[in-house]
Amino acid sequence: MEQTLSIIKPDAMERNLEGKIKSILKKNNFEIVKEKKVKLEKKDVEEFYKVHETKPFYNDLCNYLSSGPVLVMVLKKENAIAENRKIMGATNPKEADPGTIRKEFGISIDKNSVHGSDSKENAKKEINFFFKD
Ligand code: UDP
Ligand code: MG
Repeated sequence: MEQTLSIIKPDAMERNLEGKIKSILKKNNFEIVKEKKVKLEKKDVEEFYKVHETKPFYNDLCNYLSSGPVLVMVLKKENAIAENRKIMGATNPKEADPGTIRKEFGISIDKNSVHGSDSKENAKKEINFFFKD
């Protein structure tokens, strides 16, 4: 069984989509093994998204992710990393497949409702970033 890190971003939390997104995860047989609601400091987001530090959207992304509460979850399933990316949909909600979380709920390429780890290495790092035990 594989684990991945999922975050419900501020735009979705603001619209009270937490329950709807969790029910999509559960319907797709993900087990939510850990979860916590947190309000991140900008410096935390800067560290979390360090891979993107040279990108033009980095500063806005860090401001946005620290603008309100988020729900951080560890999801467990066979092939969880790829399976979660599949149900999330493309980064830009406009390009996401019908039925995906980002197509259903995403507002724009930046306010795209959810984060999901993209590799085994990053899943491990990201889970450890939020749940050090
Ligand atoms: N992002 C953005 N503008 C872009 C590309 C990405 O604001 O042109 C934001 C968006 O919120 C995205 C996050 O930066 O989810 C991380 O980008 P990445 O390319 O890793 O996309 P993801 O893995 O989230 O699909
Ligand atoms: Mg990414």
